[in-house]
Amino acid sequence: MDGRPEIESKVAPPVARCAHCQGMLPLGLGEKTCVLCGAVCRVTHERTIIDLREEKIPCPKCSTLVVAGTEERPVDLICGSCQGPFRIIPKVVKVEIGCPSCDRMLRLRPRPGSRKISCPACESEFSVTF
Ligand SMILES: [Zn+2]
Ligand SMILES: [Zn+2]
Ligand SMILES: [Zn+2]
Repeated sequence: MDGRPEIESKVAPPVARCAHCQGMLPLGLGEKTCVLCGAVCRVTHERTIIDLREEKIPCPKCSTLVVAGTEERPVDLICGSCQGPFRIIPKVVKVEIGCPSCDRMLRLRPRPGSRKISCPACESEFSVTF
């Protein structure tokens, strides 16, 4: 632990789908292997890449805005003002799903494939597929 502060990016990566089976691909950009059918797909999303490169993050020490300058996440940056190092970590993507029994909205991290969820409000189990 080097004490480098971490700041979560505000730019969400796109939820991309496999061109072969329409399953969800692992989050992020570049070459991704579909965990459901094994196909390799290239995820590009120009708007997201531009947003990531131009994202301005306030330095945790002196609040100067620092431009990320790259679409890589995590990325280590040095503040030009106070020379303080910090890291931008990928945004945690959450998707809202309504419980089919009680309509309570649940916030879930999307993951490829199906899984069982139990609703914290009514305790009914249901499966979700992203
Ligand atoms: Zn696939
Ligand atoms: Zn600073
Ligand atoms: Zn429920």
